[in-house]
Amino acid sequence: MTPAPRHPALSATDPDLAALVGAEERLQAETLRMIPSENYVSSAVLEASGTVLQNKYSEGYPGRRYYEGQQVIDQVERLAVDRAKALFGVEHANVQPYSGSPANLAVYLAFAEPGDTIMGMALPMGGHLTHGWSVSATGRWFRGVQYGVRQDTGLIDFDAVRELALKERPKLIFCGGTALPRTIDFAAFGEIAQESGALLVADVSHIAGLIAGGAHPSPVPYADVISTTTHKTLRGPRGAMLLSREEHAKALDKAVFPGLQGGPHNQTTAGIAVALHEAARPSFREYAHAVVANARALADELLARGFDLVSGGTDNHLVLIDLTPKEVPGKIAAKALDRAGIVVNYNTVPYDTRKPFDPSGIRVGTPSLTSRGLTTAHMATVADWIDRAVRAAAEGDEPTLTTIRTEVATLMSTYPAPGLPA
Ligand SMILES: *Cc1c(COP(=O)(O)O)cnc(C)c1O
Repeated sequence: MTPAPRHPALSATDPDLAALVGAEERLQAETLRMIPSENYVSSAVLEASGTVLQNKYSEGYPGRRYYEGQQVIDQVERLAVDRAKALFGVEHANVQPYSGSPANLAVYLAFAEPGDTIMGMALPMGGHLTHGWSVSATGRWFRGVQYGVRQDTGLIDFDAVRELALKERPKLIFCGGTALPRTIDFAAFGEIAQESGALLVADVSHIAGLIAGGAHPSPVPYADVISTTTHKTLRGPRGAMLLSREEHAKALDKAVFPGLQGGPHNQTTAGIAVALHEAARPSFREYAHAVVANARALADELLARGFDLVSGGTDNHLVLIDLTPKEVPGKIAAKALDRAGIVVNYNTVPYDTRKPFDPSGIRVGTPSLTSRGLTTAHMATVADWIDRAVRAAAEGDEPTLTTIRTEVATLMSTYPAPGLPA
């Protein structure tokens, strides 16, 4: 007898698409997922995100909507907002941004005019596109001035940040990024923002879950606005939030709706509410600390195998590896690791001498594997696989990659992933 399909209605209506979902489920079950911005959401978050809440239009905010029939939706959004405020200790939360990039665009719309100077970390240094990088709308419609890290330490150069801020007097200073393996000194950024008359925007997309779980300091005392995705370490659905003091509430809300968006995605709001509920539990604190412990252990194991790590290690969930000494470009290594069942992304390293589409590094992280229950005891094995796969990539040794893929699948089969069939 064949087992009942996991998605019976989908399988009956659209077997082609159902088969693709099944294939993705197997891929996520069998591989070691190490992209630091990814995770596994819980079954509860998955269920909430796939509900009939999706059928409802609700432009506006709870209690002041442009559509009727909000008896339930208002309560869903209020629950998400209240939980966000409680979890992060803020006065105001907007849970409607469709994702991290539109959330950041709403911040520009709220506090800047086209052509204004804004400051952020350069993308190749570990910043995000939406922090004023030239190819992004934020770099085309605003005057983006960019800071980076020091070449000798791989750490943010606060003297240079202060000098640039005082010279350029930006409206907004963004801190946070996508490839920063070290603790962000929000207090130092706050001081510079005050000195230069800028608003400080802490984009904590990558580390929101670590902050919620007490494994990274909070920007709340220092940042004027906190922007975050909900789907990275926070383990929610794909979405975003803007957090602030009450004084900025009106400007942010107006910017999100009607400034930038129409109706909020209520099924996502529900998923965010569930994720915030889960993140407030003691087990999530343990999770956040385990993510960091795993990353530190992995960094140590990689160092022991001769890998060159940007900044020499990690304080958070990610490790940025400069593969230059291994004589393998990042892209070739990333593709070989993928064939070995270890999913990472190629990434620029600071002061990269190669091009962004073919850079020198790879970025690896521990949020997903920690969600499956892997511990520091596994990190020697993981580092060993990475080491062998990178060497195999250099030597064109496909059989070794295939062997590793089997070893990975064998280990992962004993650590069922949240939201996936056991
Ligand atoms: C992921 C990320 C974003 C963008 O989020 P999307 O949901 O992909 O638009 C913005 N800023 C930072 C720092 C991020 O890591």
